[in-house]
Amino acid sequence: MECPMCYEFYALDRVARNLLCGHTYCTICLETMYKVSKRIECPICRTKHEPNVKPNNLSKNFVAMDLASKHLEEQQAGPFNNQKNI
Ligand SMILES: [Zn+2]
Ligand SMILES: [Zn+2]
Repeated sequence: MECPMCYEFYALDRVARNLLCGHTYCTICLETMYKVSKRIECPICRTKHEPNVKPNNLSKNFVAMDLASKHLEEQQAGPFNNQKNI
């Protein structure tokens, strides 16, 4: 599970957040977007959120973060750990 904007996996310092439209992005991307455009606009479905909807007010997507951490664990523990420089 990775953020569709920065393609980084969700993590504790990259918390997944649900937008009101149902799409999920990491807090870092949402905060950058909020700083630039003073509101959150979903890049996938173009849903504009009210300016008072701030990244920290959106609900966390624990499922996405859980999947991401499991995926990272598998990568680190898996048999293919020679292929780190993809
Ligand atoms: Zn992101
Ligand atoms: Zn959306």
